[in-house]
Amino acid sequence: MGHKAKVTLIDERGLRHDGRRFDELRPIRMQVGVLANATGSALVEYGRTKVLAAVYGPREPFQKFMTLPDRAILRVRYHMAPFSTSERKSPTPSRREVELSKVIREALEDIVLSSEYPRTVIDVFVEVLQADGGTRVAGVTAASLALADAGVPMKGLVAGVAVGKVGGVLVLDVDEVEDSMGEADMPVAGAPDLGLVTLFQLNGVLTEEEVERGFSMAWGAIERIVSMEKEVLRRKFEAVGEEV
Ligand code: ADP
Repeated sequence: MGHKAKVTLIDERGLRHDGRRFDELRPIRMQVGVLANATGSALVEYGRTKVLAAVYGPREPFQKFMTLPDRAILRVRYHMAPFSTSERKSPTPSRREVELSKVIREALEDIVLSSEYPRTVIDVFVEVLQADGGTRVAGVTAASLALADAGVPMKGLVAGVAVGKVGGVLVLDVDEVEDSMGEADMPVAGAPDLGLVTLFQLNGVLTEEEVERGFSMAWGAIERIVSMEKEVLRRKFEAVGEEV
């Protein structure tokens, strides 16, 4: 991707390369129930980043030894479709995908009421359809929505967003240009209704004060994204109510 040599990350008006203010999210879109054959599913877009999550289960796996007697096991596979990036990505799972699968699982594991389904597995497939930065946090949001859509009981809804530092300025919801050219990238996810932070990473360097300010920006956005999740789910269950 050698085409971004001359991007002004913050212009003289203080606007970002795509015209956003420092604390502005990309347009976020969410849909649930987008797949007929999954127990639950969600399509989430943060600007050009597009992530599909599909949930299967809770179900008894064929290999019974893989279960636990007291709770369900949450399995997460994060995968980038070969057509999701500007240069075709190898379809074989990369180390990054293995790592992000774990990160997304850990962002959700303690929120799912897994003790209600002993001896079962819940599979979550996070498929990146189009990557433009923030796929792990959009993946967490999509997975949380897909779990809710599947009717898996959770203590709360989870959402994520990444904060970054570009051209010396802290910015909300970094895209790929800002991620690759900026000074720092800090993905955050959590369940605001529970006051729980379930993902917190930092690539690059920030001051202590910037970490705190960046976290506040992220947390405020996460609260807004969770409200959007609730709205999408409320509409779905209202529609189901009308059918009955
Ligand atoms: P995240 O997507 O969670 O921000 P990274 O910081 O690792 O994760 O990646 C930032 C962005 O870089 C991705 O969203 C994607 O746009 C791009 N990217 C990551 N991995 C690849 C890859 N293998 N090929 C092409 N682009 C990639």
